[in-house]
Amino acid sequence: MSTAPTEARKPCSYEHQDWRCPFDAELSHELCIFHLPVDKKNPEDFWHELACYLFALMMAPNNQEVEEFVAHLPSSHWLRAQGNNWRAYRDLAARTLPWHLTGFVFPAMDKNHNFSGFVFPAVDFFGATFSTQANFREATFDGKADFRYAKFNGEADFSGAKFSGEADFWKATFSAGAYFTFAEFSGEAQFWSATFSAGAYFWHATFSGPAYLTRATVNGVLDFSHATLRNRLLFEGTVFGEKAKVLLWALNFVHGTSDITMQEGHKKGQIIEPAGQVVFRDISERMNQVSFLHTDILTDRLCIRFANVKWKTDPKEFMVPRCFMWVS
Ligand SMILES: [Zn+2]
Repeated sequence: MSTAPTEARKPCSYEHQDWRCPFDAELSHELCIFHLPVDKKNPEDFWHELACYLFALMMAPNNQEVEEFVAHLPSSHWLRAQGNNWRAYRDLAARTLPWHLTGFVFPAMDKNHNFSGFVFPAVDFFGATFSTQANFREATFDGKADFRYAKFNGEADFSGAKFSGEADFWKATFSAGAYFTFAEFSGEAQFWSATFSAGAYFWHATFSGPAYLTRATVNGVLDFSHATLRNRLLFEGTVFGEKAKVLLWALNFVHGTSDITMQEGHKKGQIIEPAGQVVFRDISERMNQVSFLHTDILTDRLCIRFANVKWKTDPKEFMVPRCFMWVS
């Protein structure tokens, strides 16, 4: 990435929908340093330029959300040290949200280059590629987190992350472990058509909005142990592969009360909010690989519902406790 445009550089050719990459392509390439494949760029250069870009985004004027964001900037982060040349990006940084990291190709993260603890406003990682571990541990997403079509080629670590808005992993591919342990999803958690090729761990996660695994492909452990559900967790047309083990152990279904407020502003009384619920719909096979150990599925509320689900008839084919040894 050039800090001063030169005539030899072309605009980066990456575009997605109405966003066209504003950066210059690297010399003798069609793509900028953010969009070039990993083997075509120097990781240090990438991280340096990314820091400058992020810093410029934070400094974009007339954006109150970003001003608030800057106030929370983690002091220990690589961003401070590396963001010295952010002015070069000043005119390229969008003054509106979301932040665009659309289609960026991330080299390996390490202890100095990661998003652990990072606070994002609305951010667009659509189609981004994470070549090795993606470290978003305890990151905060203060707006929509758009990871549609993201490719996680190494572990995806969102443990302890907080998603204040929608978390959208539509068609994301998780080639290695996906860790959402202790994550908090305040809005919708969307995993529509996502592919989990290895384990995906949601234990102790909290879902305040609906969570969708519609048409997702699961071919490893999918572990929701001790997850808290305040809304619907939907498995619809979800494909359970041979190695799928879906653990819905000790789920915590939450329901509460909310005030009914009349138009005049007078409180009239309280209603019970809908309880958390797990719904299986249109599952054609391998329901026997789903386990509800220590989950109370028969209360006065119907917390687990099944519709058009094909069951095995041989009880020996269902998971039983002694088979759980593989978990640890
Ligand atoms: Zn580009």
